[in-house]
Amino acid sequence: MSGREPIYDILFEPVKIGPVMARNRFYQVPHCNGMGDQQPRGMAAMRGVKAEGGWAVVSTEEVSIDHGTDFSPGVEGKLWDAGDIPYHARMVDAVHAHGSLAAIELCQQGIACANLESREVPLAPSAQSLIVPATLQARAMDLSDIRAVRASHRQSALLAKRAGYDIVYVYAGHDLSIAQHFLLSRYNRRSDEYGGSLENRVRLLRQLIEDTKDAVGDTCAVAVRFAVDELLGPDGMQAEGEAPEIIAILAELPDLWDVNVSDWDNDSQTARFAEDGYQEPFTAFVKTLTTKPVVGVGRYTSPDHMASLIAKGALDFIGAARPSIADPFLPRKIEEGRIEDIRECIGCNICVSGDMTFSRIRCTQNPTMGEEWRKGWHPERIPPSASEDSVLIVGGGPAGLECARALGQRGYAVTLAEAAEALGGRILNESRLPGMASYQRVVEHRLAAFDKLPNVETYLASELSAEQVIAFEAQHIVLATGATWRRDGMGRTHRTGVPIAETAPAIFTPDDIMAGRKPADGPVLVYDDDHYILAGLIAEKLAHDGHSVSLMTPAAMVSPWTENTLEQPTIQRRLIEAGVTILTARQLVALEDGARHACVYSGQEAEMAAASVVLVTSRLSNDSLWLGLQSHAGSKPAPWQSLSRIGDALAPATIAHAVYAGHRYAREFDTEAHPGAPYLRERVTV
Ligand code: ADP
Ligand code: SF4
Repeated sequence: MSGREPIYDILFEPVKIGPVMARNRFYQVPHCNGMGDQQPRGMAAMRGVKAEGGWAVVSTEEVSIDHGTDFSPGVEGKLWDAGDIPYHARMVDAVHAHGSLAAIELCQQGIACANLESREVPLAPSAQSLIVPATLQARAMDLSDIRAVRASHRQSALLAKRAGYDIVYVYAGHDLSIAQHFLLSRYNRRSDEYGGSLENRVRLLRQLIEDTKDAVGDTCAVAVRFAVDELLGPDGMQAEGEAPEIIAILAELPDLWDVNVSDWDNDSQTARFAEDGYQEPFTAFVKTLTTKPVVGVGRYTSPDHMASLIAKGALDFIGAARPSIADPFLPRKIEEGRIEDIRECIGCNICVSGDMTFSRIRCTQNPTMGEEWRKGWHPERIPPSASEDSVLIVGGGPAGLECARALGQRGYAVTLAEAAEALGGRILNESRLPGMASYQRVVEHRLAAFDKLPNVETYLASELSAEQVIAFEAQHIVLATGATWRRDGMGRTHRTGVPIAETAPAIFTPDDIMAGRKPADGPVLVYDDDHYILAGLIAEKLAHDGHSVSLMTPAAMVSPWTENTLEQPTIQRRLIEAGVTILTARQLVALEDGARHACVYSGQEAEMAAASVVLVTSRLSNDSLWLGLQSHAGSKPAPWQSLSRIGDALAPATIAHAVYAGHRYAREFDTEAHPGAPYLRERVTV
């Protein structure tokens, strides 16, 4: 018997997409995963878990149609000839095994791809520079090139049908597709029948849809992924400009419209900068122009929000990439009336950072993401306990919380002791910084799990000493005691710290600011030698609090690592708008009466006045408990069977690392250590 609330019934209605039928309205739109055709078993297992979790449609990442658009060094899919079919068939089978439809996003990337591997000259509507860093330009396509791209796309569609796909995409989004490049006047300067008027610029997209329908449309649905707005104003595609005209021209031609905003930075905005549903104002018009089903995205995690979107006719399918990464079982949980079990995406884009760094996908909320095949980790199932052993976890931040949750799920008796009055560790403070409230979801999900786990006991306001830990007589001790921001300036650039004179400005760490300590009257310098999000957040907060703030960094831009989370330009813009003075490529030389700093290239020095300096440089693991227990173990036989450190207590890192570390401890606890790498590898056969 279904346990779902009747208001959610609408989400479980089947929907016809051309010749195929989706069993419900949950649609995993195409998303990169850093495995692609290099790790096809990993990719297929991850997609299969999505289908098992109830997503009626499960799509691939971008799949290149031929060597003329090779996507390297990105790790994506290929469908160039029949030799690629087995890679795809594996994913299709994994998706079909759970009654879902498999969709493939075919793509020719045009000026978004430098063809580093194939060394082919990239193609464009008109000769021009690429939009990715490159030392070559793209050439203008002549009519025979257009015919060749159409033929290749058609060929890939036929191969996709042979691989078993149910839905074949024609892609015109994210600034990553030649069909989109032809649509846009800024890229398309042609004077033939493919340029100039809108009808001419739409011609290639129309032909690709017609070709695909003709080739595979008897059994496969043909979807179009179309960017309705680029958030560039009149310089780009606009939902209040040409986008409605394009949809009106092509309205009934595809079997499904998958619409969003472009480019990827705009489509996958983080929670810091955009609320759930942020694309609705741009995509709302689409359903008024077509009778075909429409998919839209917007980091939807609330079933009420989803049901209302369908009920009011804004969308036919709830599209999701990130919500399906954070919780592959989101649809099943709604269906089974287990709303409280949903692991909501926090909108941090650590998942995106995998693709950006050419490594497998990872997720802050879901530590099993990307590990389904190589480690055999399932997001919902975990092996039961193998003994009656008990575990004491010290520290209730993300590492300790996830460790307790997963050990509790296995059935072990777990005690979690936390010094503070509340669980959450670093998240308690960080989630109070501007735009960071959604990070609380990491804590909320674990607390909701504890409600169902009587074998997990939590103790608040319980700062444990080494003696107290020993007196507890736990068989296994896990220290998840976190880390503290350094006060001496040691970081990426300053390996021995920053000289700080007696007369120096008041020194603060991020911990001080987050705990509510107020900088002195006068200018505040935030010094970032950490390079992720925190310095920008602290600078933004202090500017909002009314301080005159400068942000200095040895890097060439503010928060450079956030290029991997697609946030960097927005962070820099937000700081400029908040009135923060930005000094890049400058490093501190000494803090004396003010801040002496130097150009990182020339060494040329300058002085700046500062009443307070916030050093955001690096963190020190909180290891006093570890050292205390070690010294005890050194003098007499240890009363415990194992003593471990996890998360920031071992080495400071992101929240995603901490959750992964907690989960990994729980997975590996009480199991045989196996020799060599702790995961399966996918080898190239030689
Ligand atoms: P992580 O990201 O690795 O989980 P956090 O810094 O978020 O690390 O969390 C560490 C938690 O450990 C904090 O909530 C802190 O209060 C707690 N903690 C540190 N030392 C002790 C201790 N001796 N006893 C109990 N709790 C502790
Ligand atoms: Fe969401 Fe962050 Fe997980 Fe990506 S990494 S799915 S943004 S929680």
